[in-house]
Amino acid sequence: MDNDCLFCRIVAGEIPATVVHETDTTLAFRDIDPKAPVHVLVIPKEHHPDVAAIANADPAATADLLAAAAAVAEAEGLLADGYRLIFNSGAHGGQEVFHVHAHVLGGRPLGPMVSR
Ligand code: AMP
Repeated sequence: MDNDCLFCRIVAGEIPATVVHETDTTLAFRDIDPKAPVHVLVIPKEHHPDVAAIANADPAATADLLAAAAAVAEAEGLLADGYRLIFNSGAHGGQEVFHVHAHVLGGRPLGPMVSR
């Protein structure tokens, strides 16, 4: 655990979150500032700063993270109409919290992937 990391502190129970799914290795909770009717963040319990870091360090944990994101999408009722899975990475990607997280977004048409 990184004591300076917001999402590590959520995993530790030090900061409250609305948890919607949990496994041995992952936690999923509602985004505090939702950008769509469904906006859930899915994280590994272990600290990895971004998706490249976890992919390189721990392929099994990466697979767990994707499986948890898929389970959240199904549990939130998003499979029929579809959804978007986003890993913001680094400055140009708009990453603000440096504990890797997948955004699961859906519940309405989400429009273009990015603005030109
Ligand atoms: P990113 O820009 O990809 O790093 O996304 C970080 C996300 O974390 C943003 O969508 C924030 O709204 C969200 N966030 C920040 N603090 C919290 C919190 N305490 N609980 C839930 N979501 C949060």
